[in-house]
Amino acid sequence: MDKLLVSACLLGTPCRYDGKSKADARVQALVGKYEIVPVCPEQLGGLPTPRVPSERRGERVVTEAYRRGAEAALALCQQNGCEAAVLKEKSPSCGCGQIYDGTFSRRLIAGDGVTVELFKAHGIVVCGESDVEKL
Ligand code: SF4
Repeated sequence: MDKLLVSACLLGTPCRYDGKSKADARVQALVGKYEIVPVCPEQLGGLPTPRVPSERRGERVVTEAYRRGAEAALALCQQNGCEAAVLKEKSPSCGCGQIYDGTFSRRLIAGDGVTVELFKAHGIVVCGESDVEKL
């Protein structure tokens, strides 16, 4: 069975900034089809839960904790031999292709979260919860 790295919040782990999860049935349906490796880059980077909400604005969100979390998530991915990851859309860490614009006005712009940027640079295939069928 292939291994798949998945944002822990999508699986139901309450690791989001607000102390809640974002359980997603489309992602939970992958359990059993893949060997799931859960990950929360922001927790891995040492950020507390709950934590202050953040949005990416260029390099502004790229504090040491976000960078450390991205690197730890990549290490986990590679150690487990995962070639693909399903990560939470729009997050400053896990968002793929679209993220909030950094003004906290719910406006989306093209871009990747810090972890996704690093994953893509290392050839990991990344998709969000709404396009798991692309796996
Ligand atoms: Fe979910 Fe990723 Fe945010 Fe962790 S960093 S709560 S896995 S979106």
